[in-house]
Amino acid sequence: MSETPKEAPKIDYRERYEQLLGEISTLENNEQRHQSLLRTLISRVLFAVDKAYPELAADSQKLRETLRQSEDGPLALDRLQPSIERLAEEIRAIEANNLTPPRSETLTPEENAAQIDVRDFLPILLERIAFTEQLDGRRAKLLRIIQDPKDRTLNSVLIDRAASLINDMRRALEHEKTELAQFLQQLTESLSEIDQHTFAHLTDIQTQRDSQRALDEAVTEQVTHIGQTVASATDLDELKKEVRERILRIGDYIQSFRQTEEKRLDELELENQHMREQITKLESTRSFLHEQLIASEQKMLRDPLTGLPNRLALDERVELEMARMKRESTPLCFAIWDIDHFKSVNDTFGHQAGDKALHVVGKTLHKLIRDVDMVARYGGEEFVMILPRANLQQAFVILERIRETLAGTAFRFKETPLKITLSCGVAEVQPQETSETAIMRADEALYRAKSNGRNRTEMALIK
Ligand code: GH3
Ligand code: MG
Ligand code: MG
Repeated sequence: MSETPKEAPKIDYRERYEQLLGEISTLENNEQRHQSLLRTLISRVLFAVDKAYPELAADSQKLRETLRQSEDGPLALDRLQPSIERLAEEIRAIEANNLTPPRSETLTPEENAAQIDVRDFLPILLERIAFTEQLDGRRAKLLRIIQDPKDRTLNSVLIDRAASLINDMRRALEHEKTELAQFLQQLTESLSEIDQHTFAHLTDIQTQRDSQRALDEAVTEQVTHIGQTVASATDLDELKKEVRERILRIGDYIQSFRQTEEKRLDELELENQHMREQITKLESTRSFLHEQLIASEQKMLRDPLTGLPNRLALDERVELEMARMKRESTPLCFAIWDIDHFKSVNDTFGHQAGDKALHVVGKTLHKLIRDVDMVARYGGEEFVMILPRANLQQAFVILERIRETLAGTAFRFKETPLKITLSCGVAEVQPQETSETAIMRADEALYRAKSNGRNRTEMALIK
């Protein structure tokens, strides 16, 4: 019997056709979605390109037109791709040459605001960090660039420079730390040497005791012998000989003891001398380090240009005075000073003259304050004063006197008279108020002093 061939599975072509139609339509939908996504993506990127690279506006416009031409149909990818690649190439070239887009003319107001933000924020950051003297020159230079309204350096470059400065400061601190660690290592070694010496000295005392005891015993033994010999001797000559020998032996013992003792003392003296030298060396290293520590602490808390306390020192003192105010229930005022039209001093006489004027103003302010007050350079051409035990009215009187004295002082730069005035805002710290808000109120008062004509003091409003 032959086998019946297996029946081929029946395909329902209609069903299969419909299934394929469905798949094609899904694919088409997906394709459309992808195209529309790509279109949105490209226009968003072009929008960003316009903002970031205004000089490429013509190229991005062309691309946008290509995009628009295929608005109703599929994207003309073969035409889009070369244009996109060209645009990317140009952006790369701009980045490589670091061509800076103009800062104020072509950017939107928001972008300008962002640019200004960085230029406002960086000086505050740089003023707040205490730099070593070597790095302070770099900080001043960077601050000048940041604060120069004509400067067109990109924000990212400014941030980079500030970051590298801060990194260098960190490195300097680490270096100092390593040096300190090395010194401590040396100190530990020296101390352990002294320790060993002390131990050796103690052992030495023990040895000395032992050898004294040995001598004692030897002498006692000889003396006992002599006693026995005397008791048992029958012959005087023999007795004499015996005694002489014993006495000689005692002499030998004593001599050898003395020799050992002298040698030991010599060694001890040498060792002591070495130790004295070590201690002198340690003492001078210690006092050198101590002086350095004091000097670097001073440097950390001083503004190098004016010699006044810097912001770090100010922050410390503010805290102290706030605590004192609460403890003693005495009034406390903060004042902010700002030199009037200082930019024009720089513009007319140069930055060097500006620096000199800052130095003289700082010194003069310092000379005019009371003993209990403090004046610090707050940043740029601004100073902050702490006036403890003075209420708002009393502080106002003190500050007005200082302001008038300054306004009447004849400053000179290379024989040219320089008219310098300052404006001032003062606030009395309110109960429950933080130092920050009080200083902020003083700053607002300063702003009022400026808008009310400058060269005047304004008292802060209580909120
Ligand atoms: P205003 O009366 O409104 O305060 O006018 P101003 O020109 O003093 O104010 P502005 O804040 O516009 O300018 C402050 C200037 O101070 C700009 C900056 O170049 C200058 N400045 C800040 N720090 C220093 C510094 O350390 N040395 C010098 N020479 N100039 C500085
Ligand atoms: Mg200012
Ligand atoms: Mg000013």
